[in-house]
Amino acid sequence: MTTVTSMKCACETCLCIVTLEDAIEKNSKYYCCEACANGHVGAQGCGHKGCTCN
Ligand SMILES: [Zn+2]
Ligand SMILES: [Zn+2]
Ligand SMILES: [Zn+2]
Repeated sequence: MTTVTSMKCACETCLCIVTLEDAIEKNSKYYCCEACANGHVGAQGCGHKGCTCN
């Protein structure tokens, strides 16, 4: 049985949808990538097409 749990990245301005499997967990929140999880230190963008968070 496969349970797919998807949610929006915890980064406010990020529009990416992440699954529990792929998400990077930080402080009980789930992010799509390291950049989001780290709060975009160093102005590092998410890197996903169509996503403008940084
Ligand atoms: Zn994103
Ligand atoms: Zn994100
Ligand atoms: Zn972000």
